[in-house]
Amino acid sequence: MFWEGRTTIAGDMHPDRWCILREGGISILHRTIPDSNSGAEGFAALPAERDVLDEIRRLASRLRTENGSLPGDLDFNIPIGWEERIGHLDDRPIRRLIIFLRSTGCEWVEKTGGCTMCGFYCATARGREISAEEYIAQFEHVMDAVDLEDYPVVSIYNDGNIFNEREMPVAAIEKICSYINGYENIKKVVVESRIDYSPDEHVVRMKKALNGRQLEVAFGFESADPRVMNLCINKGFSANNFDHFHSRMQGMGVLTKPLLLVKPPFLTESEAVNDILQTISYCVSRGIDYVDLEITTVEKHTVVHELWKNNLYRPPWLWSLIDLLQKCRERFGDRAHVYVSPWTYSVESLDWARNCGRCDAGIIRAIERYNRHFDPAEFEDLDCSCREGEWEEAFAKVDPRTIPERISEQLTYVQNSRVSYM
Ligand code: SF4
Ligand SMILES: [Zn+2]
Repeated sequence: MFWEGRTTIAGDMHPDRWCILREGGISILHRTIPDSNSGAEGFAALPAERDVLDEIRRLASRLRTENGSLPGDLDFNIPIGWEERIGHLDDRPIRRLIIFLRSTGCEWVEKTGGCTMCGFYCATARGREISAEEYIAQFEHVMDAVDLEDYPVVSIYNDGNIFNEREMPVAAIEKICSYINGYENIKKVVVESRIDYSPDEHVVRMKKALNGRQLEVAFGFESADPRVMNLCINKGFSANNFDHFHSRMQGMGVLTKPLLLVKPPFLTESEAVNDILQTISYCVSRGIDYVDLEITTVEKHTVVHELWKNNLYRPPWLWSLIDLLQKCRERFGDRAHVYVSPWTYSVESLDWARNCGRCDAGIIRAIERYNRHFDPAEFEDLDCSCREGEWEEAFAKVDPRTIPERISEQLTYVQNSRVSYM
């Protein structure tokens, strides 16, 4: 059962894909790109952890080379698509438009193979630079098709980093902002960009070009646990970087929205829930009261896909999500507004958050209702025999191995199965 999407796909569609959404990320790690803006330290990996990380990156990079070639008939003047979702402004639910631009592609993928769960690169031009004129034409395409005046919040996503000049020219951002200024009802614009690809001068230029409207930068914080963030996800980033980024943005009058990843690979079901609770606690301690949960799906040409093919990964149970949202309310009350992003993305998903199949649709509808006011009372009447049976069993599972041990063993298994498959 997929989330009930209302995505409009524009133009010719890549044969691999049918739907939309994704979110940004962050980076910084030993021997990779330094975060010239943050000055904060990267993840201080132990030697054994560095070996594991190298292994992940080797596999991730190899998988990217299996992406296949870029479809020759893609029109870069047409965006991937757009979609209406619930948004929040001044604590009220409002209509939000998400625009998915066909973009150059995330530079983190080219440098390290990318994050272990992210297959968005397949929806991009895979490094072929999209010009300012092409981006502007894509936005004009949406303006012709949708009345932007209906949307107080507009999210503009580019499957990567909007403030990275190599991925998106500033001239394109400024022109798009000048179009947005023609719509009085648009109060807030949301973009996505990694910390290390968000230089102050670009952020300031966009903020200025928006003429007093709110600017929010969404970024994949994923987890406050450095081992989860860097080893399980290959985010190349640390909580220190996040702190510095958040205060930089605050100083410029820009809002930040952390995106947290529910059930990265290599974690058990209960570890995944606890990891999010700890991460939200960290965000709350930094004065952030609104976070987005991104629920891991299985996308092609990713490390998660390789694990999934070998029965080493299962997306989270929907009961785990319900459990998590109820615990968030108990623990944080109104100090944390926890939004669940629909798990429909710009690339095809092969597997997604699910229960037994019989109760999935009702739970997804309850999460949609919950998203309006963050009220877990929506979950009170939910039940199914799979909750006390299979889910409780899955939730009780314990893995005594350390995270580096798990990664090392699972990657060896994956490599061996790839060899025997070939
Ligand atoms: S690879 Fe990571 S940083 Fe790049 S778009 Fe995907 S999630 Fe974001
Ligand atoms: Zn069920």
